[in-house]
Amino acid sequence: MKTLYMVIPCYNEEEVLKDTAKELKNKLEDLISKKKINKKSKIMFVNDGSKDRTWDIICELTKEDNIFAGLKLSRNRGHQNALLAGLMYAKDKCDIAISMDADLQDDINVIDEMIEQNNLGIDIVYGVRSSRKKDSFFKRFTAQSFYKLMKLLDVDIVYNHADFRLMSKRSLEALSEFKEVNLFLRGLVPLLGFKSSKVYYERNKRLKGVSKYPLKKMLSFAFDGITSFSVKPLRMILGLGFIILIGSIFIMIYSIVVKFLGQTVDGWTFIMLSIWFIGGVQMVSIGVIGEYIGKMYNETKQRPRYIIEEVVDNNEKDN
Ligand code: UDP
Ligand code: MG
Repeated sequence: MKTLYMVIPCYNEEEVLKDTAKELKNKLEDLISKKKINKKSKIMFVNDGSKDRTWDIICELTKEDNIFAGLKLSRNRGHQNALLAGLMYAKDKCDIAISMDADLQDDINVIDEMIEQNNLGIDIVYGVRSSRKKDSFFKRFTAQSFYKLMKLLDVDIVYNHADFRLMSKRSLEALSEFKEVNLFLRGLVPLLGFKSSKVYYERNKRLKGVSKYPLKKMLSFAFDGITSFSVKPLRMILGLGFIILIGSIFIMIYSIVVKFLGQTVDGWTFIMLSIWFIGGVQMVSIGVIGEYIGKMYNETKQRPRYIIEEVVDNNEKDN
């Protein structure tokens, strides 16, 4: 029997945490009683620098029951870093880890199937949403555009899979070899290789509380995802440069012809437009290049991705 660690990043989740803890505890106890996982299995909450009572609640839970464990980051580092912190802690303690969000949007009933797949020798099992019917139109639209864009840019990610997945110990160890600071786990995990499979589930609405991913964070997440994994934007600039170069040859011919026809003064509008257009294109291009340089800047500094302030993980049952 394997030891399972559930890894749940939490940022200001005081409203939902107790419900989540209860549901997950029931699930894990059920799995333990069915002998699908062993008694050392745990639910680990990673407090990502919450400003509310989240950490207090996690501490209370760990006191009540050893099935809960808590990890406290020294400050808010964002969903991906919090998740990584939890997974990296869990990898030394568990045989398999399942990551999911604190709001129970993912269906915990597919955990059984994930474990079964793992028992068949599969290292990574992706939880994939079968539909997005319960999402708002806006979230659905932005999310789907994101996946399409990623595909266009040749980034290998699993369609409609968020961070609900099972990973084996060895895949976690492989993941720990990736030192990048611009973390985008959904892009990294498929890079690990290993045997993988998918389980499908219906994603629910957030149980309580509000989304911690406002539009600004969502856009920056999508942008990070693209620029961390694809250099295609750089190549696109080159393509754009060529197109403009070819365009400018036509304009050159046009200008000369117009000059000989003696109508040069009329060209004012055209020159104004050209200056502005090329100026715009150049600025966008420099911006995109700058984005990658910024990424390199962050990577070369090799700052730690998270700092753990406190761990609560009681091993032996008290009685
Ligand atoms: N989260 C986190 N740090 C952050 C933002 C979010 O750990 O800075 C956690 C959050 O508590 C939740 C998960 O990441 O468990 C996903 O967030 P949320 O459910 O708000 O995102 P959505 O489902 O709306 O995309
Ligand atoms: Mg959510």
